[in-house]
Amino acid sequence: MDADVGVVGLGSMGSAALWQVAGRGARVIGFDQFEPGHPFGAGHGESKIFRTAYAEGPEYVPMLRAALPLWRQLEEETGRPLLTMSGGLMIGSLDHYFISSALRSARDLGLLHRVYGAAEAERRWPQLKLQPGEHVLWEPRAGVLRPESAVVAAVDRARELGADVVTGVRVQSVVDMGDHVEIRTADRTWRVGRLVLAVGSWIGKVLGTAELPFWVERQVQVWFPIEEPDLYHPERFGIFIRALDEWSTWYGFPSLDGRTIKVAFHHNNGRRSDPDQLDREVHASDIEPLREIALANLRWLRPEVARTQVCMYCNTPDEHFVIGPLPGSPRIVLSGPMAGHGFKFSPVVGAIAADLVVEGRTAYDIGPFDPGRLPALAAV
Ligand SMILES: Cc1cc2nc3c(=O)[nH]c(=O)nc-3n(C[C@H](O)[C@H](O)[C@H](O)COP(=O)(O)OP(=O)(O)OC[C@H]3O[C@@H](n4cnc5c(N)ncnc54)[C@H](O)[C@@H]3O)c2cc1C
Repeated sequence: MDADVGVVGLGSMGSAALWQVAGRGARVIGFDQFEPGHPFGAGHGESKIFRTAYAEGPEYVPMLRAALPLWRQLEEETGRPLLTMSGGLMIGSLDHYFISSALRSARDLGLLHRVYGAAEAERRWPQLKLQPGEHVLWEPRAGVLRPESAVVAAVDRARELGADVVTGVRVQSVVDMGDHVEIRTADRTWRVGRLVLAVGSWIGKVLGTAELPFWVERQVQVWFPIEEPDLYHPERFGIFIRALDEWSTWYGFPSLDGRTIKVAFHHNNGRRSDPDQLDREVHASDIEPLREIALANLRWLRPEVARTQVCMYCNTPDEHFVIGPLPGSPRIVLSGPMAGHGFKFSPVVGAIAADLVVEGRTAYDIGPFDPGRLPALAAV
């Protein structure tokens, strides 16, 4: 046997799983086709949102509460700053599904929050241009994560704890052999007791089927220069998510470099992509709608593009995570797909994966994320 546990994919979820499994004293080996912190999957882009008043459902809140101390633990163990609490602003009409669901989550679970009308919100955050009738739901327990540093920190810490790491190697398939799992690459087959599969958008390729109900969506992030860096500092401005039309949102961050801020649409593309053929070029058609909306809604923003980056979501049919044993292959634990909103959960998803592969069970309620709810996974 090459290790007690294998982790395939060392991106957002896999790096955290490697750290958590190594921390429990198991012999673990991790694989990635690229180097940790790379910009070719979903775990990059300088910043990711952390928030707790979770519009996607109150079932996520216990995991978010658990994620926060785990982020702090990773910071302490590695000496790297990973999460800056800036507070978060959910902006729009109180009727918009995202704002109303976030508010319900905050109220039902007793999370600290405030709701401000447009005039009061503009007084507090003069960076915002608001419409009459819009509101701001503010929560202090929100902020900015540093994705590349987080992935590298988790892998480095796992190595310190004894993990082996193989990079630059593409895993072709993984097979539950009943009493162990085989990890097959072009050159050799590795044998491990149990496996965490955390390959994000590549899941169909590693499981050898194009029939899974997941789809990869290209996402473009754009940085625009700012004129008032002090006003966009994380102490003066939070992460924000703003209602767009009935079903969509766009979002942005405080300035991390004192010169620019990043903004993006959430689900703006709608086309299916292949993770190996993703269009990584950024076109005027990607930038123009974002520039228009950002300039119309934020003050002290300049129209020139400072930087762009392409990323991808791996969407699921119900927009919920997929976490748990692969039906019919109980030695293989799926950590994802994460449906385009998973980064903030990375350390707790890593802890859940470690629970499942080391102890065979977890105290977290992962029922809502059960892979078994998706019949196509049972047919793999
Ligand atoms: C633009 C954008 C913005 C986002 N913003 C936020 C946010 O603000 N907050 C938030 O919480 N979430 C956010 N998300 C979602 C979040 O980033 C993802 O849910 C999360 O990163 C998914 O993690 P993952 O580990 O599943 O995938 P990845 O991080 O992509 O990791 C998968 C890894 O598997 C490796 N791999 C794949 N196939 C193989 C193979 N065959 N052999 C070896 N290695 C393999 C890949 O190289 C990669 O390293 C955002 C996503 C995008 C695209």
